[in-house]
Amino acid sequence: MNNNQTGKCQCGLISYSFNKEKVISSHHCHCKDCQRATGSGKATIIFIPKKHVDLNGEIKYFESKGTSGTHVRRGFCSNCGSGILSYAKEIPHILYVKAGTLNDSSWLKIDSNFFTKSANEWNRPDETIKCFEGNPSIISGIKTLLKSF
Ligand SMILES: [Zn+2]
Ligand SMILES: [Zn+2]
Repeated sequence: MNNNQTGKCQCGLISYSFNKEKVISSHHCHCKDCQRATGSGKATIIFIPKKHVDLNGEIKYFESKGTSGTHVRRGFCSNCGSGILSYAKEIPHILYVKAGTLNDSSWLKIDSNFFTKSANEWNRPDETIKCFEGNPSIISGIKTLLKSF
């Protein structure tokens, strides 16, 4: 079985690969910043330790302040503008890979929804999975998780 997953930006300058066994969790984020950054109803992100992602090409970052006070750095291709990944400046060891950039995302299972309070009528959160009204404060959870690596 092949666990190696690959993805890239629209123009191909940026590409990445990772072993899907290393994925921590996957989420839909309906926060306003993700809506603006993606130009759609939500961002679908895959949490994975940075050390398990093999990245090629130079990513350009745009930083914004999240509601919980953390600084989110959204990375995109400076040539074609595709959003590739993001991370919180305070926890740079975990990358949030944008699921839409995967070459094959058929294996992906979404664990929960973030910021359902700002979800739009035209893109309702999937209520069959766990919903967080705002930030799930998983940051403290991740810090605990990191200690176990
Ligand atoms: Zn590109
Ligand atoms: Zn978001």
